[in-house]
Amino acid sequence: MKVGIVGAGMVGSAAGYAIALTGGASEIVLVDYKPALAVAQAEDIAHAVPFAHPCRVLAGDYDDLAGATVVVLAAGVPQKPGESRLSLLSRNAEVFSEVVARVIKAAPDALLLVASNPVDIMTEVALRASGLPPERVIGSGTILDTARFRTLLGAHLGIAAGSVHAYVLGEHGDSEVLVWSSARVGTETVARFGAQLGAAITDEVRDRIDAGVRQAAYRIIEGKGATWYGIGAGLARIVQAVRNDQSSVLSCSIVTPEVEGVQDVALSLPRVVGSKGVIGTLAPDLSPDEAAGLRRSAEVLKETSARLF
Ligand code: ADP
Repeated sequence: MKVGIVGAGMVGSAAGYAIALTGGASEIVLVDYKPALAVAQAEDIAHAVPFAHPCRVLAGDYDDLAGATVVVLAAGVPQKPGESRLSLLSRNAEVFSEVVARVIKAAPDALLLVASNPVDIMTEVALRASGLPPERVIGSGTILDTARFRTLLGAHLGIAAGSVHAYVLGEHGDSEVLVWSSARVGTETVARFGAQLGAAITDEVRDRIDAGVRQAAYRIIEGKGATWYGIGAGLARIVQAVRNDQSSVLSCSIVTPEVEGVQDVALSLPRVVGSKGVIGTLAPDLSPDEAAGLRRSAEVLKETSARLF
């Protein structure tokens, strides 16, 4: 399977690296408007391939995306000093619309995987610019926030993060909703599991984990300027679900007809992902507080999108 990546910066290259290491593609093509960067990233990633699965890793132009099954969109422009978030957003949306048009021209059958932030809004921008059906324009959304939630719960409970079934839904951002009410380990709610193993989920623990998930990006950015490994692996996980037609349940973002009374909004819900893209969406059973939080999150996104379009 051929995977294209547009934007060979930190996130795009981390995705390429993770896809190569997990055997997610037989060919990866990196495109960037700085061609020398794409060439260097491709060569660096290619040198990891002998330690993993066979895969050709190349730099190219948009035309070289022809035949790609998935194209990861990780292009973005940095914030100018003093620039407002909305101005940055509209500049990024413009760049993105142009990128998407070029991708679709070269690879009309590709599924688009959006990574650029704010990812939910960029997913809507990509959908509008591509003319594809919503199930084929997937934003990484809260796949990473869900991973952070499981990591912190697993660490507290002393079990593997992969054995924790817990989701973060809504916006990939400040208004996201940690769904505690249905968080489980094996047959048990996390509260019952914690009580049985002497790792009670007290209010203090809940607050600590909640803040840990919400503030993860801010903390990492403070230490190293940006985040890329976690999201790179999350993107590789979505690519794997598509490549192997897995019908995996992943929290990711697509434009959704209705969420808690809000129409046509891109945000994350648990989605079934396979080779055709998102083939199903779960309607989560939420507590009243969580449902209100999800509605707020949908409204926040809708307001931003209304200012942009
Ligand atoms: P991030 O941390 O989100 O990956 P970076 O700035 O490291 O941010 O990467 C964004 C990349 O997107 C940069 O390498 C930049 O050159 C690239 N880029 C920006 N605009 C375009 C465009 N129109 N086409 C292709 N690549 C682009």
